[in-house]
Amino acid sequence: MTTAAIEVKNLHKSFGKVEVLKGIDFHVDPGEVVCVIGPSGSGKSTLLRCVNRLEEPTSGEILVEGIDICDPNVDLNGVRSRIGMVFQQFNLFPHLNVLQNLTIAQRRVRGRNKGEAVEIARHNLAKVGLAEREKAYPAQLSGGQQQRVAIARALSMNPDMMLFDEPTSALDPELVGDVLAVMKDLAAEGMTMMVVTHEMGFAREVGNKLVFMDDGVVVEEGVPSEVLASPQHQRTQAFLSKVL
Ligand code: ADP
Ligand code: MG
Repeated sequence: MTTAAIEVKNLHKSFGKVEVLKGIDFHVDPGEVVCVIGPSGSGKSTLLRCVNRLEEPTSGEILVEGIDICDPNVDLNGVRSRIGMVFQQFNLFPHLNVLQNLTIAQRRVRGRNKGEAVEIARHNLAKVGLAEREKAYPAQLSGGQQQRVAIARALSMNPDMMLFDEPTSALDPELVGDVLAVMKDLAAEGMTMMVVTHEMGFAREVGNKLVFMDDGVVVEEGVPSEVLASPQHQRTQAFLSKVL
């Protein structure tokens, strides 16, 4: 039996009196791409943020590669260093050029020397199709290019898995495809991925599993093409009828 990359059991999360996650169960196997869809406010970002403990769960269990990340004695930095995260807003350092954006955490967190960090950064920049732009500053790049830099930056930490929170939602439509193509390549290489997205084409083509969330619960999950073609629950049907 292989250990799940991510296993979430009966996860609850409240902000004050408001319960946002109401008992979530799911798992992501190594090498699997799990896409999460659902209406705004359904708890998708909160779920993702719980997985690397940017949010503290109220109750329940989250195992990352078998390690209980809610255990007070857990080495949180160790766990986080195995999880790459990409947000809707790219969060690049505006005063650093592309290469510096990719090397700073490698040097400070991974303790790599400059030569090593630069080599790894260049490898990942080439991977996202931006080898030529290492001297550029974020403001000189399109949103799509900035997001590909953010992906390359996360990859440069050599994570075991990647979490994406609506990585293309802030982009002009014509820039979405390049970012999705990079993510598709990553999936093909076997990267374990959890992707919150509204890109149903990506979910169908690249996802191994589709999870539909609404109002803090997983309403339905399954093979993406099947869930999209014949959703079993009324709430899934209602959501898909609006977005497809
Ligand atoms: P989604 O990503 O699906 O749009 P979120 O996880 O961002 O949903 O939010 C789910 C709910 O939790 C929303 O009602 C949101 O207002 C609330 N929420 C999220 N973060 C916080 C917070 N830090 N404090 C209070 N409420 C929050
Ligand atoms: Mg969100």
